[in-house]
Amino acid sequence: MVWFCFLVDQTRKVRRSKPAAGLCSRCGGGASVADMKTATRFCHVPFYSKSWKAVICTFCGAILRSYQ
Ligand SMILES: [Zn+2]
Repeated sequence: MVWFCFLVDQTRKVRRSKPAAGLCSRCGGGASVADMKTATRFCHVPFYSKSWKAVICTFCGAILRSYQ
């Protein structure tokens, strides 16, 4: 018997960030440039992760711009 699992989840983490010029369009908080890491897991087993850069809001966490 073969069981297939279709449980996929994704976690996003900020590894490092530093203040950047600009304001959040949603809450008006300060923006910062962050190194992001997205990890995708399939059945709780990590199988894919990606590092990328983004400009995020330090207050509400909104992604204002992303560099893939
Ligand atoms: Zn914000």
